[in-house]
Amino acid sequence: MLTVAELFSTDALLTAEEREIRDTVAAFTERRVRPHIAEWFEAGVFPVREIAPELGKMGVLGMHLDGYGCPGLPATAYGLACAELEAADSGLRSLVSVQGSLAMTAIHSFGSEEQKQQWLPDMAAGQTLGCFGLTEPDFGSNPGGMRTRARRDGDDWVLNGSKMWITNGSVADIAVVWAQVEVDGRNRVRGFLVPAETPGFTAREMKGKLSLRASITAELDLDEVRLPADAVLPGAAGLAAPLSCLGEARFGIIFGALGAARDCLTATIEYSRTREVFDKPLAAYQLTQAKLADMALEWGKGQLLALHLGRLKDRGALTSEQVSAGKLNSSREALAIARECRTILGANGITLDYPVLRHANNLESVLTYEGTAEVHQLVLGKALTDTAAFR
Ligand code: FAD
Repeated sequence: MLTVAELFSTDALLTAEEREIRDTVAAFTERRVRPHIAEWFEAGVFPVREIAPELGKMGVLGMHLDGYGCPGLPATAYGLACAELEAADSGLRSLVSVQGSLAMTAIHSFGSEEQKQQWLPDMAAGQTLGCFGLTEPDFGSNPGGMRTRARRDGDDWVLNGSKMWITNGSVADIAVVWAQVEVDGRNRVRGFLVPAETPGFTAREMKGKLSLRASITAELDLDEVRLPADAVLPGAAGLAAPLSCLGEARFGIIFGALGAARDCLTATIEYSRTREVFDKPLAAYQLTQAKLADMALEWGKGQLLALHLGRLKDRGALTSEQVSAGKLNSSREALAIARECRTILGANGITLDYPVLRHANNLESVLTYEGTAEVHQLVLGKALTDTAAFR
């Protein structure tokens, strides 16, 4: 009997170091996350303060960044780590994406030397948590329309506005907040580092989610938040700055979503071999095998694409359109796989005794955040036709 990875010999495409990193992360999730994840998901909690330092010790927070306590590992290794994290739960991978690819990348790419020294080593260690505040209640796919504003008052900056759907927003020590600044009569998006204890900054956890329940999501409110002159990220001028951070997080999702899909397939194949219907195992029916074959094929194609994109990124040759293609494919196909697996599990599939509906529910968010499937279709459409159809 072959695993899906064996079917496509995808391991043969990895270096010994990449396999070791993958196995280390997989062993961590096996020991530390998998035994509790159904309970956390049901309760709508995630012990981020306990888990983050352990992730830090393992070197996965800011894994692809250089210096300041970060290991500076290749992109493909980071992707493989994301796959193992997301095979446990998309909430765990989201924590790592937001900390490393969004908050830390913003500081690493656009921060001053002092900002990098002050924040990055503790963030890499998981002792300091960051969040990334871009989305607003009325501006998700179109963040350029954001209403949060920063104005100068003497040397200080004063921020007003609100952000929504911010992962780890209510547990973060430092929020990277994107705001419009008026420069010569025109708005320009700039990034600010807002320590959580700053007067006027409040974060409220959002409840009632049916997806990513083992992940903290918050609304941020900024009411006359006064920051010193050096709170601005000096290198970030314009929307391209936060979008470049999103590109890093999307890259992790290309691998991550396929980790969730693989976990669904593993559980479902095992189930189909033991569950008997009409006097023989489900796995012995052609309809079941057709479903499994098609799902394995989608997983294999997605994994080969992910590895190809990883190698391009390692060579510095990956384009943003290729990231869109990978994110669109992985999140869409992983969700389709999770839903199809659920059918094979029948009624058992709707419970937390099996991971498939938990993954499917999580993947609904993965399909939507970091650019919705539709937005990535529009990115590809623009690349193919040289015509933007966003508006
Ligand atoms: P909308 O922009 O309102 O889109 C609604 C629908 O319209 C979608 O189907 C979309 O594809 C479609 N649509 C939009 N524009 C077009 C168009 N031009 N043509 C055709 N269709 C279009 N944001 C952060 O800043 N930081 C975070 O940490 C963060 N974490 C998140 C965690 C979770 C669990 C979730 C669910 C979201 C998170 N987000 C975060 C927000 C996320 O990035 C947004 O939800 C996403 O960008 C989509 O925005 P929206 O929800 O406002 O949808």
